[in-house]
Amino acid sequence: MTENTRIPLAGVIGSPIAHSRSPRLHGHWLKTYGINGFYIPMDVAAADLAEVLIALPKAGFVGVNITIPHKETVLALADVVTDRAALIGAANTLIFRPDGRIHADNTDGYGFMANLRQNAPNWDATSGPAAVLGAGGAARAVIASLLEVGTPEIRVANRTRARAEALRHEFGARIIVQDWAQAGNMLDGAATVVNTTSLGMQGKPDFRVPLDALSPKAVVTDLVYAPLRTRLLEEAAAIGCITVDGLGMLLHQAAPGFERWFGIRPEVDAATRAAVLAT
Ligand code: NAP
Repeated sequence: MTENTRIPLAGVIGSPIAHSRSPRLHGHWLKTYGINGFYIPMDVAAADLAEVLIALPKAGFVGVNITIPHKETVLALADVVTDRAALIGAANTLIFRPDGRIHADNTDGYGFMANLRQNAPNWDATSGPAAVLGAGGAARAVIASLLEVGTPEIRVANRTRARAEALRHEFGARIIVQDWAQAGNMLDGAATVVNTTSLGMQGKPDFRVPLDALSPKAVVTDLVYAPLRTRLLEEAAAIGCITVDGLGMLLHQAAPGFERWFGIRPEVDAATRAAVLAT
């Protein structure tokens, strides 16, 4: 069989992985665009990751998504790391090149931005400070992309303050660290508010940061997408803010990988959302 007749394979590697919606998403796009390929979930332990990555291209894989807990460690296994993946310190998209080299990228920041642009088209990053709750892996991608589009100031509050301080150290003086106990105060005058913590997610503690200081002019987005309408989004909408749920980020971050692997840039539209939300 020649390389041209090979069925392209892709997938997502994590542990656990059964909950991932990525197979449903890519499966929908493969069907929509009539591509004869497959996308599968793979539960791989940390100790086996290197061995698996070496084997996959030999089996016809053109690339994979990487998720928890491998997003950081995979950087050391890649041959080429994009600047943004290096800056964020994590990769979520690998491309297996024909020359055998593994190319690692991070599309979370792109997904975050594309989701805001699609669902809050009048949002202007430069119009005022952003308030970011949380300082984990997702926060790094969000902050890098907010800085890139000219956000003048990014206020960050995290339960573990040292992680927020580390972000200031790495990303520079536009980052202002606030105490987690005072997180509500940093919403005062914020044009953009982003929850990057897991608070409010099904099975996790509630999001309880008070929103009294939030302006109705702010655009508020939550990275949590299960549930789709989080308490933060409901309360912000009641104040009059434009709110954007986290599912769109998940869908948009997947598009560049799909294009690289299967050759077609997929649309993120209502049908895509419906396919991923279908039970
Ligand atoms: P992570 O690196 O583990 O970071 C988790 C963050 O949540 C940290 O800031 C952590 O604070 C905070 N946190 C956890 N429990 C808390 C609590 N009880 N009280 C206060 N803060 C708490 O995870 P991640 O990869 O950044 O992901 C964070 C969230 O974003 C998850 O819900 C994930 O599903 C979601 N996400 C969504 C997308 C999307 O496409 N929509 C993409 C990536 C991530 P500490 O530092 O103090 O632990």
